[in-house]
Amino acid sequence: VSDQTRIEHIALETLACADGPLGASRLVEVLSQHDIDLSEATAGRYLRSLDRRGLTRPIGKLGRLLTEEGRTRLKQLEILQRQGEQSALLVGAATPVDVDELIDLLYVRRAVEPEAARHAALRATDQERDAIRAVADSHIHHVMGGTDHAEAAIDFHRLVARASHNKMLTAVASLTLDPSNNPLSTLLDVISIEAGAHFAFAHEHRDIVEAIIARQPHRAEVAMREHVDDLIRVVQEYRKRVPLLETSMAITMVDQMPAFAPEASVDSRLVSP
Ligand SMILES: [Zn+2]
Repeated sequence: VSDQTRIEHIALETLACADGPLGASRLVEVLSQHDIDLSEATAGRYLRSLDRRGLTRPIGKLGRLLTEEGRTRLKQLEILQRQGEQSALLVGAATPVDVDELIDLLYVRRAVEPEAARHAALRATDQERDAIRAVADSHIHHVMGGTDHAEAAIDFHRLVARASHNKMLTAVASLTLDPSNNPLSTLLDVISIEAGAHFAFAHEHRDIVEAIIARQPHRAEVAMREHVDDLIRVVQEYRKRVPLLETSMAITMVDQMPAFAPEASVDSRLVSP
């Protein structure tokens, strides 16, 4: 996190917690508690820059208050910080085993979810169609707004599985989409964001929704399979890119094993698109 972002976060947080208008001298005090030294003049200029961005509103000579835009910005910064912490943790903690486990998990999803989508196109009730569309819309909304979208993404997949009205499919999907797999879905999320792929994923959900709404089972199945293939591809590319993982013996061995998906593997699809 850059110093600029840190100062902004501390300033907005202090404003959010303050009982009344906040002045430059109070901001200087709080920043110095975080080992950031600013002169009062600089702090004053900084606060005026927040006014100009619409994040704060001056109250005479008393100081300023946080605006609604300021609160929204603070929420974004909190999410960014959390994601930053998670990425840092994951970069440190993600072993080749984790990434391989994630890929294994995605191959199970690849086997199950296209079939679930096909059944959903045939069997979903009107309410289920509406719910699937609503969660896909909320997913796009969060992705575009830069807010936390992981939950909406998983919810989408859960709803599609449930709308299959196939107990076995629903049971397997509830296992692969289980919250206890959370470290793996967080890893998937961080890898997607890092690759800038989360926008495309949100739009792929839209394609699946349209096929389900139009009751086109084959189209739903194909769209879901392409979506999961894209998830797999992004994770595989990540594994090749991260040097820590390249040097690992485990990866070398796995790469020599062509047994992930016997037919139509993602790799062969990439070779002959
Ligand atoms: Zn998805």
